[in-house]
Amino acid sequence: MDFDAAGRPVAVHEKGFFRARGFDGRWVEKKWVAGGMEPIRHLRVLTAENAAELEHRVRERLEELLALARRGLLSGTVGKPLTPKGWARRLETILAFQDRLAEDAAYFRRIYHPIGVLPPDQYLAWVVQAVEGCSWNRCAFCGLFAGRGARVRSRADIRRHMEETEAYFGPAMDRRVSAFIGDADAFAAPPSTLIWLCREISRRQPRLVRPSEDGAWGIHSFGEVRSLLRWTSRNLKALARSGFRRATIGVESGDEEVRRWLRKPGRAEDVRRAVARVKEAGLSVGIVALLGAGGREADAGHREKTARLLRVLPLDENDLVYLSPLKDGPDDPHRRALMGSNRSPAGPALRSGQAAAFRAAALDRPDGRRPRVALYDVDDFLY
Ligand code: SF4
Repeated sequence: MDFDAAGRPVAVHEKGFFRARGFDGRWVEKKWVAGGMEPIRHLRVLTAENAAELEHRVRERLEELLALARRGLLSGTVGKPLTPKGWARRLETILAFQDRLAEDAAYFRRIYHPIGVLPPDQYLAWVVQAVEGCSWNRCAFCGLFAGRGARVRSRADIRRHMEETEAYFGPAMDRRVSAFIGDADAFAAPPSTLIWLCREISRRQPRLVRPSEDGAWGIHSFGEVRSLLRWTSRNLKALARSGFRRATIGVESGDEEVRRWLRKPGRAEDVRRAVARVKEAGLSVGIVALLGAGGREADAGHREKTARLLRVLPLDENDLVYLSPLKDGPDDPHRRALMGSNRSPAGPALRSGQAAAFRAAALDRPDGRRPRVALYDVDDFLY
């Protein structure tokens, strides 16, 4: 069992299952199970009934541990060594919090709009939702912000949001390792607003902005190519000086035909120009390339042209390349788009081939300065 400093449950290991709790109160269960040639991933959101049963078991276990601590039978280390009395105090705090779980989750849902997704290196960020939703909201494979509008919040509104979210985390802010400006495109904000916000974040939470050994520090966001190209080099450099570190860009594909089919705004050449400008300003980038985009029929073009684009992007060891398998389940927007244009899903073998080609291209650096390449499975996301 793992709890944050405020006493919220974070994760529970039980009989081979890993169950993680999001701040919104959802519990997600994960496990790899044996199946044929390859292990199969088991992933499900617990039903309200299962979640209540789990929380009841956690409470019973906590009460048993508290009884042991009160009898002086519990000792050990949690970050620092704890005496039995220290254990009892910590367990009392945690137990008291278990009575407020539903209220705490409801409060979280009041101060945050649904957080669609974060880059995998930002799951432990302090999220500040300054630019809500996605102003484009038309990509054929994406339903993250469907039915939601987009807007840049006012400075007063952002300040209030920061105060509320800081108060929400309280002592548990110690688990946040960076700051992430949501939602889909922070660069849709005017430069003066985004630079002001980064300075505010740096002033309020300096620890998150200081370089740290875990490598996850700094201020981050998603950035759309067309918005990034509206920023001048001067403004990007000012942003870098204000604590901003990395813009993660949904490149998706280097193939114009696939990009058009995906309804992704901008061209591959725009991606190259935007990345070059961001890098010249001293910022780093995260590049997201989709696996399976456009289905089986698009494989050759998507594979070759995305690899070609990855080769020419000016990446180095400060950057990340994420390979993200598109979801092709019956209810996923990409599957529906494929069906609507008589295409078929790419399937695991073609996706693996694309992943290998993109990885090789991203790592093919004549100067030896290689970005890190990682899988980006959006199903893993839980905040
Ligand atoms: S992929 Fe990004 S740009 Fe496209 S609709 Fe989704 S959030 Fe908006």
